[in-house]
Amino acid sequence: MTDGGKEKDGVWCLGTGSPRLDGDRMGAGTVFAHGGRAMLIDCGIGALHRLAELGMGAHQVDAVFVTHHHVDHVADLPGLVMVRWIASRHGPLPPLTVYGPPGTRRFVGATLASYAVDIASRRALGLPDGAVTPDVVEVADGARATVGPWTVTAFDVDHHPIAEALGYQVERGPARTVVSGDTRPCSSLAERAAGADLLLHEALYPGYGQASYHTGVEDVGRLAARVGVRRLVLTHLIPGTLPDDTWLGAVRLHYRGPVVVARDLLQLADWSAVGGDPFGGVPCWADAEPKGVDLR
Ligand SMILES: [Zn+2]
Ligand SMILES: [Zn+2]
Repeated sequence: MTDGGKEKDGVWCLGTGSPRLDGDRMGAGTVFAHGGRAMLIDCGIGALHRLAELGMGAHQVDAVFVTHHHVDHVADLPGLVMVRWIASRHGPLPPLTVYGPPGTRRFVGATLASYAVDIASRRALGLPDGAVTPDVVEVADGARATVGPWTVTAFDVDHHPIAEALGYQVERGPARTVVSGDTRPCSSLAERAAGADLLLHEALYPGYGQASYHTGVEDVGRLAARVGVRRLVLTHLIPGTLPDDTWLGAVRLHYRGPVVVARDLLQLADWSAVGGDPFGGVPCWADAEPKGVDLR
């Protein structure tokens, strides 16, 4: 069993793509790791594979926060539930909690029903009865949860016709990270993103994808500038094939702070860094700092 990642204390992109299959960009996923334990925001297509590439295993994941139930955000959640349970044959694990909007309980219940044959076979071989069933907490705007060193707050976003889609704010000490989930521009996200140390925002390039329920890259730049985001990550890239400079050129029309175009396994924060600044020691931000611009 993989037992790596004990030294990891930071935030990494797992998947930075969309439903379109792309060997370089998995479906949505971000991991917050500390002391050998982890929580995920979204668990899309291939996110578990990326987690393994970081040297971590499913047994180390204590919580998953689902933004919404599109396949590029939840496709690997059934796999996580199952392989984590299989890993419990090596010894009891802390419970897995899945947080998400209404419909999450049904999704997890359907997962367990889909794997009834697998579950029955492994129970017959002695895997602990009941441990396969995660705790499910359906959350709405303003709900808060504490996982390890992180306090997570859900907030509404607008991904209509998905009726209930969430973004999440993650606080650890004074550092505040906001993950947009999938959304068109909306005031609730703008309020949460105001002054955020780190904003991971979905981005769509004009002429691609479904513009009615996503956010164009220029609008991401406008938002980040207007509400004073301190660092910006463009992720959930539609399409995932454009050069970084194309994205940066569009976002920099409005936002002059540090911005990076996400890629899978990119590290965004590091709490093991000397000096206590979880962002200062992360290489991506050194490159992202615009020259000659006073960010304060
Ligand atoms: Zn979506
Ligand atoms: Zn999506």
